[in-house]
Amino acid sequence: MNIHSETLELLSRTLLVKKLSFLKLFFKFFLIIIVSFSILQNCTKKPQKPETQSKMNAKKEIFGKTQEGDEIYLFTLTNSNGLKAKITNFGANWVSFETPDKSGTFNDITLGYDNLTGYMNDTEYLGATVGRYACGIGNGRFVLNGIEYKLALNAGQKHAHGGVKGFNKVVWKGEEIKDNKSASIKFSYVSKDGEEGYPGNLSVTVSYILTENNEFTIMYEGETDKPTIINLTNHSYFNLTGDPSNDILNHELTINADNYIPLDEIGLPNSSKSESVKGTLLDFTTAEKIGTRIKKVSPGYDNCYVLNKNNEELTFAIRVYEPNSGRIMEIFTTQPGIVFYTANFLEGVVGKDGHVYKNHHAFCLEPQHFPDSPNHPEFPSVVLNPGEKYNHVIVYKFYTK
Ligand code: BGC
Repeated sequence: MNIHSETLELLSRTLLVKKLSFLKLFFKFFLIIIVSFSILQNCTKKPQKPETQSKMNAKKEIFGKTQEGDEIYLFTLTNSNGLKAKITNFGANWVSFETPDKSGTFNDITLGYDNLTGYMNDTEYLGATVGRYACGIGNGRFVLNGIEYKLALNAGQKHAHGGVKGFNKVVWKGEEIKDNKSASIKFSYVSKDGEEGYPGNLSVTVSYILTENNEFTIMYEGETDKPTIINLTNHSYFNLTGDPSNDILNHELTINADNYIPLDEIGLPNSSKSESVKGTLLDFTTAEKIGTRIKKVSPGYDNCYVLNKNNEELTFAIRVYEPNSGRIMEIFTTQPGIVFYTANFLEGVVGKDGHVYKNHHAFCLEPQHFPDSPNHPEFPSVVLNPGEKYNHVIVYKFYTK
């Protein structure tokens, strides 16, 4: 290699080194720009909520089988706050409801049975979906469009709570409603023309909806192919202490009703007139302990109140406050009336966890139309005609103080 070529090679190597170090420098600079840009971007970004997986859900498990071989399920609705409702497609019965007390301890605040047999043998309507007609119809008889109908008599001379095999004893079809705002289940049933004496094929649905703001809604819908009568409600027994071995006499009750329907000894209206609660033992227009006057209304409360309203809008009906647990339950409804019943015939019924239930250890609050309405044309109508839609709602709201 001569001097000239050596010089050339040295020169080109030097150039190459320079080129490389320039590239290195450029790359470093580029990297610094990128890193600082992304840091800047992260700093100016609004803090994002961590991805929360909603804990709302509906679970389905086997509860048993009827003698006819129908599969019966227990559905559990849970919301993110841990409230839990259990309902079965046998009778669309509400089986349990777990809510926290003021210290956060969860208890079941409804009475019921541990298993399907309990619901099949039930005579006191624990958690029951009551239909076609809740409460009583005198002599099981009514006239609609000039036709006389005779219903099954299952309480002496009275048709009570839908008859011998009411809606609480039939098998419903249950399906989960998919929506991301609530945990819900919808039950449907077709009551055949002539069932328990009622006219028309009646298609009914009962939906149970548990929301994130601790509201539990029961929605009733129905359609018929012949004029008929309908009055659906829920007959749950509540004890807000969460322990049915406590009585309910300390619960403070407010009923948004200035009037009530006077009833005779078998629970039927004496007349079509309501009377004022003012100055009577039935006055709960302001909060009053259930126990304050209960001894004077032997064997306990079993009364129908006329809610303060004159339309079918969803309105406030009830507030119940249990001071030891701090639990409060409010009820809102589209129905015109509410039956307040202090479990006067519960003595000896064996329920969940082997509890032997006692009178006055639970109460029922049943939003509905007035008893025997088909025989009292002055009362709000309970007639459903083909082409019309039956639609009523009960909302239970839970919180503590
Ligand atoms: C009625 C009571 C009856 C109870 C159980 C309530 O809705 O008002 O009279 O004893 O249900 O059948």
